[in-house]
Formats: sequence, C-alpha cells, structure tokens
Amino acid sequence: MERRVTLKSQSQIERMVVAGRLVADVLDRVGQEIRPGVTPLELDALAEEMIRAAGGVPSFIGVPGRKAPYRHSLCVSLDSEVVHGVPDRRRIRDGQLVSVDAGAIVAGWHGDAARTWIVGQVPAEVRQLVETTREAMYAGIDAAQPGAHIADISAAIEDLARAEGYGVVRSFVGHGIGTEMHEEPQVWNFRTGQRGRRLEAGLCLAIEPMFTLGGHEVDVAHDGWTVVTRDGSLAAHWENTIAVTADGPRILTERPAPVEQVSVA
Ligand code: MG
Repeated sequence: MERRVTLKSQSQIERMVVAGRLVADVLDRVGQEIRPGVTPLELDALAEEMIRAAGGVPSFIGVPGRKAPYRHSLCVSLDSEVVHGVPDRRRIRDGQLVSVDAGAIVAGWHGDAARTWIVGQVPAEVRQLVETTREAMYAGIDAAQPGAHIADISAAIEDLARAEGYGVVRSFVGHGIGTEMHEEPQVWNFRTGQRGRRLEAGLCLAIEPMFTLGGHEVDVAHDGWTVVTRDGSLAAHWENTIAVTADGPRILTERPAPVEQVSVA
C-alpha cells in the first residue's frame, strides 16, 4: 500500500472532526457497556451499528491481514493482548484490562482512537500502567507543536514509560491519518536516533503509546491479528487522532469539555 504525507486544510480538518467525534461517541458508548459478562463481539456489534447509523463506515473492516482481511469494527484486546485483538465470544471478567480501538470513515475522512478500561479491581501497579499510558498519549500530543519533530513526540512518550520501567512496544507505532487510515509519517513511541518529519500545521497524526508491565517484545497470535506480549505481561493502549495547527495540537477524537456552570442559587 502506498503511503504518503498529506497536509490538511482547515476545512479538511473540520471534516476529520466529524469522523473523530463519531469515534469518540462510539468509545464513550462502548465504555458504558464494558462490564463482567459482556463479550467483545457484543461491543463490536454496538460499535458497527453506531458508526453505520451515523452514516460512517468502520475503518477496520477489510484491512488486509496475514491470513484474511479484518472483519470487525473494533479491536478489543484483553490483558496481555496489546492491540488488534479480534472480537470474540469470551466473556469479560472482573479484574481484566480491556483495550478498545475504534476507527470510522465519514465522507472519506478517518478518525482513529483507543482507550484502555479497567474492569473492577486491579492491583495498584496495573492501574498505574493504564494511567501512565494515558498520560504518555497526552504528553506526546502536547509535544506535537508546529516546528517540533516526530522525535519530540517519541521522546515525551518514552520518558514516561522509562520513569516507571515499562516496556514500550516497538513493532507497532502511531501514524499519519487522513483519507487513508495509515499515512506517513510513522509516529514512534520511543527514541530512534532520527528526528523524523518536522511538524507543520495541517499534519494529522494518530498518537498511540502501547506500554507493558514487562518487555517490549510482542508476537502475533495464530489468528493473524492479535498482538500479544511475548512475556505475557499486561499491556495498555491509548490513542487519539490530532491535527497540528498553528495554535498547537488539536485533538479530533474527543469532544470538547462542556462549559462548566457554577450554581449560585
Ligand atoms: Mg491507529
């Protein structure tokens, strides 16, 4: 597949916002359903219904794989599964980590985002893994300033993982995004020794750290999709699609926080 770097105009970014907010709504809704007993396939059906009802198309369906094209609207990765977990009929249990990745195309433009949920009670170190991975995503986003480079995003993300001793998955990284789900440039979650592309207004990126409680090595399961930690350690994954603007990074896959009103009655 040919991959390219594209810069988006203001009006094109607004079209990506439409796709991005649909993805945000899907993840919000899926998150409400995550509880013991629910299955990844049920979450996937809900996501597909929402995306299509909004006039969108699930980004992931039809993506070519090692064995067969992907058939689902979500990736649901449990515990030591890092990314690309194929929705199935396993019932989610108390104490699990559930990482959900969603992608939608609306009028030709993609949004792509992921979040990790904690089901019930987990040890403090597991909660810390999830929270730190989320913080690393935001640190990477904060580093996506015009004039900076891809390596600045990478360093910001890696620094948080290093501080906690986490593994940083290297085989899968963030990416440019637009009319294709995966465009150039790659957005590494670790220092590579390269500065990477200079960031300029109109560059849209999916920033998506994947941290583990163990090592960085991963394998792809027999289904040809599910990426698991080689050492069986738990993993977390957070992702947002952003646009670099002259004013700094703009997150496209979250709805703006509501205006707060202080009651004075
Ligand atoms: Mg992505």
